[in-house]
Amino acid sequence: MKMICIGRNYTEHARELNNPVPAEPVFFMKPESAQLRNNQPFIYPPFSNDIHYEVELVLHVCKVGRNILPQFAGSYFDGIGVGIDFTARDLQQKAKEKGLPWEMAKAFDFSAPVSRFIPKEEFADLKNINFGLLKNGEWVQKGNSADMIFDFESIIAYVSKFVTLKQGDYIFTGTPAGVGPVAIGDKLEAAIENEKLLLCNIR
Ligand code: MG
Repeated sequence: MKMICIGRNYTEHARELNNPVPAEPVFFMKPESAQLRNNQPFIYPPFSNDIHYEVELVLHVCKVGRNILPQFAGSYFDGIGVGIDFTARDLQQKAKEKGLPWEMAKAFDFSAPVSRFIPKEEFADLKNINFGLLKNGEWVQKGNSADMIFDFESIIAYVSKFVTLKQGDYIFTGTPAGVGPVAIGDKLEAAIENEKLLLCNIR
């Protein structure tokens, strides 16, 4: 499996990192080895001094597809969870300055804790899903799927022009404003509609 991650999908977040609001989705990937399962702790990696959390809604892909039309895109995912796109912001900043790829900063081992997936049918409105992140019991990020620049269907249609989606892939759909650093000892909890679905302690 692979994880496809959308960057800059919330206007306020693009602005907080001084990035332009994109006219087309920006995406990158994390490999299977980036998975962090079952509320396992995140071990602060030695190669960075500035790991940031980014809470995101995550789609579970349920069938193979490429060149998917937007009107059919909804049938290619069957569940929605919440995940954290851990980012080595210091390495990413250096890569950006040099115009180099982001993989070191984004795709490293265990950089993608993800909750269980809630069946899509359980959501009353996919365009109105509240989610967020608590750090040490305080809300640090709150988002709503209504504020995405590119909605789930647009993301799937766009990405599948370039990359075949396969059953079991995950799609991280972008982070709202409020990203920030973690420190050893922090406790992160990610929620959808106030239900805490993911716990991640930083060790
Ligand atoms: Mg992200």
